[in-house]
Amino acid sequence: MIVVMKSTSSDLDVNHVLQFLENHGLTGHLSQGVERTVIGVLGAVGATGIPGGIGGINPSIGEALEGLPNVESVVRVSKPYKLASREFHPEDTIVEVPAACVSGGKIRIGGKEVVMMAGPCTVESEKQLMTTAEAVRKEGAVVLRGGAFKPSTSPYGFRGLGVAGLKLLAKARAEFGMPIITEVMTPTDVELVCEYADILQIGTRNMQNYMLLDEVGRSGKPAVIKRGMSSTFEEWLLAAEYVLAQGNRNVILCERGIRTFEKATRNTMDISAFPMTRILSHLPIISDPSQGTGRRDLVGPMSLASVAAGADALLIEVHPNPDEALKDGAQSITIPQFRELMPQLENVARAVNRSLVIK
Ligand code: PEP
Ligand code: MN
Repeated sequence: MIVVMKSTSSDLDVNHVLQFLENHGLTGHLSQGVERTVIGVLGAVGATGIPGGIGGINPSIGEALEGLPNVESVVRVSKPYKLASREFHPEDTIVEVPAACVSGGKIRIGGKEVVMMAGPCTVESEKQLMTTAEAVRKEGAVVLRGGAFKPSTSPYGFRGLGVAGLKLLAKARAEFGMPIITEVMTPTDVELVCEYADILQIGTRNMQNYMLLDEVGRSGKPAVIKRGMSSTFEEWLLAAEYVLAQGNRNVILCERGIRTFEKATRNTMDISAFPMTRILSHLPIISDPSQGTGRRDLVGPMSLASVAAGADALLIEVHPNPDEALKDGAQSITIPQFRELMPQLENVARAVNRSLVIK
């Protein structure tokens, strides 16, 4: 952070700033030009109040500095998220998840292999889940998705089977060896969902539920953070920072479409999110083209585009009979469509020097 003083500032004003910095455990380095004085602020790491002394400068310090007498401006030079940033962690993070269905017994998200996660939007019944799990596993999916606790925009929409849904997911995992990804909606449910899930999903509507992020951080479980539908990269990476700051390093980002003026699609899939987060962060980034488009006929093309742009995994909604789905039927692909998509994805993965199917 750099504090730029007004050209009319006095020594008293400069000393005032230096004293303020010292009071907050920071050091100011003075640089006196002909016209004005600038003060470089050092001591970012550890100056946060977060237990363990990690992270970045508390943003309220910058805001307070802006208000001090004869301060012209405060310029931030490093990212407000430290633990999530590429700047501080040049090496890619790889999140490992136990998976009985693959040789080696675990999958790696963020490595060379593109991971296929598939399953219904929502667990509806044992038959629906088992049929889907068996089919997607057969085609090469290695993680099973399925919501048990569902956020619903309308209070009259289907909100999931709850614990009964979690139990069915655990049954499917026992049968097909696929780890489970499922959403957790409240801090008080984290412990319960952790008993069943291998990967926690934080939904778009909850990306800024900071109590939930803290609790997911404390759980240590691999966690997918969906991008808030109106969130910037910075807000999204600060959400990741919350989980990381609690000591949970198993954080995965997920692009799932953002809100724009366009109404033809449910959301606007931001394909630039894959290369952009790769520049900003070391965290794996996955793609959800189902919520991203809201249309079954766009899921395949957006999946291919995501892998081409660098997605580390795909999270796709598949339903044995989408017309009968209790939730998100219009964006759920059929089992034959999934079967058709896999070899196409394999080709694109190979074209970008990656591989897809993990046996
Ligand atoms: C989902 O994956 O079914 C879902 C509700 O996701 P999102 O939070 O991205 O809308
Ligand atoms: Mn859905």
